[in-house]
Amino acid sequence: MSLPSELLNQIGVVLELVVAFFTATLVAFWIGFAVWTFRDIRSRTRDIFAWLLAVILVLALGPLGLLLYLLLRAKDTLAAVYDRQLEEEALLREITERRACPNCQTVTEPEWLICPQCRHHLQFGAASKAASDATPKFSALNVEGTLRHAARGGDWEYSVVLSIRNERGEEISRQVVGVGALRSTEARTFTLSVDVATPGGR
Ligand SMILES: [Zn+2]
Repeated sequence: MSLPSELLNQIGVVLELVVAFFTATLVAFWIGFAVWTFRDIRSRTRDIFAWLLAVILVLALGPLGLLLYLLLRAKDTLAAVYDRQLEEEALLREITERRACPNCQTVTEPEWLICPQCRHHLQFGAASKAASDATPKFSALNVEGTLRHAARGGDWEYSVVLSIRNERGEEISRQVVGVGALRSTEARTFTLSVDVATPGGR
């Protein structure tokens, strides 16, 4: 009979096709794994040796190599690392710009009046800046004086106290706006200015 041999022949052809299909699929996946690995490692490191190692690992071991690679690869992508660096820099800039003592760069809290490190007054500068932003305004009072060390004896310590009283003489605000030390022959000039803002226009 010729039928069984013909049937066997056909089965053989179908099997060959199936094997060829699976082989092609496997090769495609193998290459796909390698390409994916190459792209992934490239986004995580600039080390060309690491690129080669990862691709060779996946080409040699296929899915197992890919699994190994996923376990061993760097946690963060370069883009994530770059983003984090930018964030940290922005945070640092914010801290140093907005909350650092202008004199010694010590980080301070917004409500502090005096820098604990160098005794530089902090709120005074912020208040006068806020006042200069308001328009229109005029300078109602300006007092200036210089304190000079007598050049003998020990160091002097000074504190600048600002007191505001109302029309009945009651104190409504009292702040130590600055303290410091004065060594022999040193001098400090103190300027007090009261700027009056007139938001109504007059
Ligand atoms: Zn300071």
